[in-house]
Amino acid sequence: MRLDTLGIDRSVSVLFPPAVLLERLEELPIETVLIDGDSESASDSTERCDGVVTFEYRPSLLNASWVHSVQAGVDRFPLERFREANVRLTNSTGLHGDAIGETVVGYMLAFARRLHTHVANQRERRWSRPEWDEPWTIAGERACVVGLGSLGRGVVDRATGLGLDVDGVRRTPIPEPGVDQIYTPDALETAVSDARFVVLAVPLTAETEEMIDADVFAAMREDAYLINVARGSVVDQRALVRALEDGGIAGAALDVFETEPLPESSPLWEMDQVIVTPHAGSATRQYGDHVASIVAESVRRLRAGEEPVNHVC
Ligand code: NAD
Repeated sequence: MRLDTLGIDRSVSVLFPPAVLLERLEELPIETVLIDGDSESASDSTERCDGVVTFEYRPSLLNASWVHSVQAGVDRFPLERFREANVRLTNSTGLHGDAIGETVVGYMLAFARRLHTHVANQRERRWSRPEWDEPWTIAGERACVVGLGSLGRGVVDRATGLGLDVDGVRRTPIPEPGVDQIYTPDALETAVSDARFVVLAVPLTAETEEMIDADVFAAMREDAYLINVARGSVVDQRALVRALEDGGIAGAALDVFETEPLPESSPLWEMDQVIVTPHAGSATRQYGDHVASIVAESVRRLRAGEEPVNHVC
């Protein structure tokens, strides 16, 4: 594939400054340019790029031969149009296991050790010890991790390290180190029924959209917590709110939502048993460096006529 000019779309600044990529990719034997879909003059530069690294999709990107998404999820990219236009799409899967793994056990520890309540009390200058039977420890509890890819692996490693027992849900029932029992998606309700934490780490696809619905909430323990670091629409958000309001589950830690930013009117903001984070579960100051290393490898491979890293379609 011809790859002489690589555009860094300004939209990557949602995750890190584009200058990080421009600097880290300086050594490549190609020209790297900053492009910006919002500016008239910059759209010309989009057209002269053979490859583009971007956070967001826009139709003019289909003029390139290769587009790299700086996120793992490509649910916002119209895959069919990429196939029709014969444009290769790659993603950043594989980068997020450490950061997401730490975020997820952070949520678990916050709920068990009541840290979210202590922080809320501190804001009010309130010295309030929890009831004797409120705090608990996570060792010996069970987590069910739905999706055992890069994120799931990062969660399993840390959860088992902290003494949790872990079950998993994956499409092919092959064993996974550290995971006691593997369930297939058709047995999701059984898989979650014994878990204190249900952790969502699947991509958003036609199959996973609203896979966590009222039936799954009904199957969960009343003292269970839902942790969603995948995509908001993997959960039926109305069913989630009902389960939280009715005490069907004990709480939830949510990094992703059907609508982002989470609208001010959402009842989730006000719930004491809910931790809301702004789609920041994988944020880390090393993010740009990690993206740069897979982009550099893909540039090398594409120029050598090989398959790029993380080829989606
Ligand atoms: P990945 O491709 O490494 O892993 C996804 C896994 O889910 C794969 O093993 C796949 O086989 C499995 N899967 C797909 N459909 C399934 C189903 N119906 N049931 C069970 N398993 C199924 O991707 P990843 O890097 O682990 O990321 C997963 C998703 O998490 C991304 O697509 C993205 O939407 C989301 N994500 C969110 C953040 C964040 O900041 N919160 C960061 C990275 C990724």
